[in-house]
Amino acid sequence: MKIYVCVKQVPDTSGKVAVNEDGTLNRASMDTITNPDDLNAMEAALQLKDATGCKVIAVSMGPPPAEGMLRQLIAMGADEAILISGREFGGSDTFATSQIIAAAINHVGLDEEDIVFCGRQAIDGDTAQVGPQIADKLEIPQVTYVADIKKDGKDVVVKRMLEDGYMTIKVKTPCLLTCIKELNTPRYMSVSGIMECYSKPLTILDFDALKDEPLIELDTIGLKGSPTNIYKSFTPPQKGVGVMLEGDGKETAEALAATLAAKHII
Ligand SMILES: Cc1cc2nc3c(=O)[nH]c(=O)nc-3n(C[C@H](O)[C@H](O)[C@H](O)COP(=O)(O)OP(=O)(O)OC[C@H]3O[C@@H](n4cnc5c(N)ncnc54)[C@H](O)[C@@H]3O)c2cc1C
Repeated sequence: MKIYVCVKQVPDTSGKVAVNEDGTLNRASMDTITNPDDLNAMEAALQLKDATGCKVIAVSMGPPPAEGMLRQLIAMGADEAILISGREFGGSDTFATSQIIAAAINHVGLDEEDIVFCGRQAIDGDTAQVGPQIADKLEIPQVTYVADIKKDGKDVVVKRMLEDGYMTIKVKTPCLLTCIKELNTPRYMSVSGIMECYSKPLTILDFDALKDEPLIELDTIGLKGSPTNIYKSFTPPQKGVGVMLEGDGKETAEALAATLAAKHII
């Protein structure tokens, strides 16, 4: 059994956020971190590894410096890492990104009991599309918003978070699960992990390595092959300060009704 954990390196938005004139993030001037939900996904995979002895593989698509992040994930406990990196992949939208990651997983091999973990969403792109799209391309079942995971024979039983409760789902493997922060608290890198992280395998898959995979076509990856393009991005204007209504329930209800009536909303 193998677990692939898809991990994205993202700009650290807790510090100073630099924005270019065209409204895009100035990524070069910002520090990078591992996408937070992906650390929860990695922790979930490592807990399954502790329980079953399975192999955990961290997978990232990004520029060469993402290798540093992958080494940290190995120091956390991953057995190996894959960095999908190449000029042909640059500028990919979520459709192309998921196509390339799915092709890389196919390339390494997806067996009957394997699981693909993703975070729910990345804090920069924020679409939450990549996980479900990888599952679609791999033609495997998916469960999103996973808040608890248990192995049950060849299946997995997961608790899926809903707005007002939870849903328990038994899902056949191979499958893809997207993880939320309520799932666990990610562990730190261990000292022995840090000592060994450069002796464990990190494979770089470039376009040449993946070009024979069925999902990889030059006209469906990268900027040129992406069906969506960022037309414009901007910071929305700040909303005005709200009006605080004071008094007991009856008084505030009457004041609210009068305010809405004055604005012709009711
Ligand atoms: C130079 C550049 C140009 C871009 N141009 C476009 C464009 O023209 N049109 C457009 O729509 N978008 C564009 N993007 C954004 C790009 O589509 C997203 O960064 C990417 O597809 C991931 O989407 P997301 O951040 O919304 O991830 P989400 O869907 O929110 O991520 C969910 C989960 O998927 C996994 N995941 C996501 N990305 C990766 C990754 N790279 N490696 C491993 N796992 C991952 C992680 O587990 C993550 O938690 C561009 C990005 C860059 C850097």
